[in-house]
Amino acid sequence: MQLVFIKAFRLPKSFLCTVIIVFFLLIGLNSVLALNREFPTTSWAVANRVIVVDPGHGGIDPGAVGYNGVKEKDIVLQVGKRLQKLLNQAGARVIMTRNSDTDFGTPGSGSLLTRKREDLSKRVQLANKNKADLYLSIHVNAIPSSRWRGAQTFYQRNRTESKQLAEAIQSEMVRILGNTRRVAKPEDFFTTRNTKMTSVIIEIGFISNPAEAKLLTDPAYQRKLVYAIYSGLVKYYTQEIPRPK
Ligand SMILES: [Zn+2]
Repeated sequence: MQLVFIKAFRLPKSFLCTVIIVFFLLIGLNSVLALNREFPTTSWAVANRVIVVDPGHGGIDPGAVGYNGVKEKDIVLQVGKRLQKLLNQAGARVIMTRNSDTDFGTPGSGSLLTRKREDLSKRVQLANKNKADLYLSIHVNAIPSSRWRGAQTFYQRNRTESKQLAEAIQSEMVRILGNTRRVAKPEDFFTTRNTKMTSVIIEIGFISNPAEAKLLTDPAYQRKLVYAIYSGLVKYYTQEIPRPK
């Protein structure tokens, strides 16, 4: 077949080889680009939304310390940055409460508790001042028993939109991660209580569980987590539920 083609058009064999090689190189390049284009056709759902991504803890506050000495503040910063990138690609305006290993308390301002309260107040103020649409706080769980695992989303009791967002994110984490059957739960946290917009706390897993601690530091699993959260936001914005203007 190839010979007939060459004969018919009198093309040199080397030219044909080059064309074939370039063709396959282009296919390869396209699939590499597709892998990097983490994102999708539904991006209009979050486009132009102001979204605060809050990687919990930082600086003097390591958060939970889990199996193998892995620290909550480091994992949530990695995941927060991945989420920032993804949401930016989808056209959202992302405000990070922190981009590095810092906290917002004034050094020497009193007890650790005072400093922690100041740190949380500043995160909340940042979101309120910017009139954000959503506040997503990322945390990691740890308890004395190594038995428990699974990502779980929390919302402030009696806040309807926050409950809807938490349920949307949780259902997408259950579907996409395939390793938890936890449900969204009401709680009373400083940040979810004091932010004026829809806000949730996403506990992305337990670092007290050795297997989950390992997963949470794995870049591929972090990407999956971030995709599940994003997918939850799309679900929240596209589901047919009445929402205040
Ligand atoms: Zn935490």
